[in-house]
Amino acid sequence: MSLYAELHRHLGGSVVPRVLWRYFHRSQSDLAQRFPEYPEFEEFYTRPRKTLDEYLELHTLVENVQSAKTLPYFIYRLIRGAYIFENLAYLELRYTPYLRTPDHLPQTERIDQMAQIVEIVGQASQLSEYPIVTSQILCMHSRLPYAVNRAIVELSAQNRTYVCGIDLAGGDAYYAERLDEFTELYAYARSLGLNTTGHVYETTDGSYPELLPYLMRIGHGIQIPLRYPELLPELAQQNQCLEVCPTTYLKTGTLEDIRQLKLVFDRCFEAGVDIAICTDNAGLHNVRLPFEYENLLTYDVIGFKELQACQDAAFKHAFAWPHRQRPASILTEVLREDEKVSEPAQSVVN
Ligand SMILES: [Zn+2]
Repeated sequence: MSLYAELHRHLGGSVVPRVLWRYFHRSQSDLAQRFPEYPEFEEFYTRPRKTLDEYLELHTLVENVQSAKTLPYFIYRLIRGAYIFENLAYLELRYTPYLRTPDHLPQTERIDQMAQIVEIVGQASQLSEYPIVTSQILCMHSRLPYAVNRAIVELSAQNRTYVCGIDLAGGDAYYAERLDEFTELYAYARSLGLNTTGHVYETTDGSYPELLPYLMRIGHGIQIPLRYPELLPELAQQNQCLEVCPTTYLKTGTLEDIRQLKLVFDRCFEAGVDIAICTDNAGLHNVRLPFEYENLLTYDVIGFKELQACQDAAFKHAFAWPHRQRPASILTEVLREDEKVSEPAQSVVN
C-alpha cells in the first residue's frame, strides 16, 4: 500500500468546485444566484485560462471567502478529501496569511491578525478521524508591500509548531522590479533557519538565477530543464528539488501539451535533480494527486520506476515529515511482521 506526500498545494486552490459551490449556496452568496446549478459553476471554475495572471485572479474568489470564521469549514473538507481520495500521509499547505485577514483593516492590524490565522489553520488541520501529517508554508506575495512580506518571514520563524517554511508567490513576472527586496528577505529567512521554496522558472517570465542560491526547493522550475539545462548540475549538487505540478501548466497556458514535460523529467533524471510531483491547486483543477501520477504514466511522460523515484523524492524533500522512511516501507515492514506471526498457525492447519 502506498501513501503519498504533497509538497505544493495552495490553500486557496485546494477547495474542490463542489465544496465551494455548496458553500456559496449555504451562505447565500451572490455567486449562488449566478450559478444555480453545479455543472455551470464547475465549468467556470476549472476551465483553462490564457495566462498565469488570469489564472491567479481565480484565487481571489476563494481568498475572499476564506476568513478566520470559515477556514475550519474549508480545511476540514480539504483534509477529509486528501485522506479518503488521495491517500496522503503528508501535506504541506501554503497560503498568504495576510490575504485571509479583513481587507478593511489598516495594514498593521492585518499583520497582527496573521498569527491568529496560522493558529486556526494549524488547529483545523489536525483531525483525529483523518490523520495526516500537515504543516504550513507561508507565502510572501509579489504584490504585497515589503513590511507585510517581512512580517510573514518573522511569523514563520516564531511559529515553528505549525509552519515549516516560506515561499514567494503571486505571479513571477512581478519579482523583477523588487528583486533586491526578495533576495534580502530570502537571505533573512535562511539566517533565521527557515526552510525555503519559491515560485520561479514557472513561466518564461520567471527566470531569476539570483534567487536560486536561497531556495531549498524550487516551486515549478520547469523552465530550468527546458531552457537553461546548464543550471541542472548546480541544482543537483545543492540537492534542490523541483516541485512539478503537471496540470497547472496546461491551465495557465505555459505548456500546450502535457507530453512537453517529458523533456523536463528526462533532463532532471539525467542530471540527478529530484522532482516531487504535486498538484498546486487540486481543487481549482479538479485533479487530485493520484490522477496527476496517472496522467504522467498515461502520456508516457514517465514510467512506474520514475514515478516511484518522484514519490520517494517528495518524502525526502518534505520540510516536516518526522520519519526517516516513507510510509510505504514502514507499512511493508509491519505487514511482513504479520506474515511471520501467521506462518506457524498455518502450518498447524496444514
Ligand atoms: Zn503554486
